[in-house]
Amino acid sequence: MNDVVIIGSGIAGLTASIYLARSGITPVVICGDNPGGQLMQTDTIENYPGFDAISGAELMIKTINQAEKLGVNMIYESVTKITAVKNSFEIENTSEERLTAKAVLIATGATHKRLGCKGEAEFTNKGVSWCATCDGAINKGKTVAVIGGGNTAVMESLFLSNIASKVYLIHRRDTLRADEIMQKRIFAKSNIECVWNATVDEIIGETRVTAVKLDNGKTINVSAVFVAIGVKPATDFVKDLVALDDSGHVISNETKTSVPGIFVAGDVENDITKQAVYAAGRGCFAAQQIERYLGIR
Ligand SMILES: Cc1cc2nc3c(=O)[nH]c(=O)nc-3n(C[C@H](O)[C@H](O)[C@H](O)COP(=O)(O)OP(=O)(O)OC[C@H]3O[C@@H](n4cnc5c(N)ncnc54)[C@H](O)[C@@H]3O)c2cc1C
Repeated sequence: MNDVVIIGSGIAGLTASIYLARSGITPVVICGDNPGGQLMQTDTIENYPGFDAISGAELMIKTINQAEKLGVNMIYESVTKITAVKNSFEIENTSEERLTAKAVLIATGATHKRLGCKGEAEFTNKGVSWCATCDGAINKGKTVAVIGGGNTAVMESLFLSNIASKVYLIHRRDTLRADEIMQKRIFAKSNIECVWNATVDEIIGETRVTAVKLDNGKTINVSAVFVAIGVKPATDFVKDLVALDDSGHVISNETKTSVPGIFVAGDVENDITKQAVYAAGRGCFAAQQIERYLGIR
């Protein structure tokens, strides 16, 4: 019987593992098919305290090494099912091994939906981004495009309109899905132009993005494309166990889920701030909640 099994080895799960290991509990981390999480695919992070700039992979390799030095046991499999058994949990993974634990932390993150158009993969980290907070600053005074029509696309556009000289908000319909108050803010901004009834056929560039080609035949010159068409949290394996919101995120109350003994941290929570430092903070909070649950704090 393990005290804690952490599912996910992104910044949230690993931060929790470091806090738990330092409190005398040695957790098991089941890493999933992307050890290190989303940050492993992030070119440069410029908003993580303590580093002017660091590659995502370097940050996560340092974090994995730190956890391993503290004795955290990493299992390189994915979890397929969790079953509640009396006051504990049975965790099955892809190797069909079963672990038991008194407490479980879900830190499985989320993936941003892709456009699937030509040029998107080629120019990822070279102008194509899923995060204006992360990559907006380098577009000061430039023209950018945001793709989407919901609250996230609108928030990204508003954020970028304070940095870029012009923002094209490209949406496949003729009205936005975003809340009315958010729409009013968009329409009040003189440097945001909505492009209706259009989808992106191709992202064009040389070393970086230079333009987007739309399905209406138009090409718009931009230096960056921010894709804001939704995220998919990795929660399929717990959908029948813990309460999820409409978008599939785990509903969390101070990192506690609807099932006592199962906790949640990071991008997989029903929270709007998808940032590394925040996910790390939630991992710390979850670890301390788990310590209280196990009666050692
Ligand atoms: C391209 C890009 C650039 C970004 N740039 C920045 C930036 O500059 N600054 C910033 O603060 N944030 C940035 N972010 C956001 C940041 O990466 C996330 O907020 C952060 O990584 C979330 O951490 P997490 O641990 O919650 O989830 P993730 O990093 O998504 O990690 C989830 C982990 O869960 C594992 N997993 C999933 N399913 C299972 C399963 N069934 N069983 C076991 N394990 C599983 C995965 O393998 C992975 O290890 C960026 C994101 C992207 C995509």
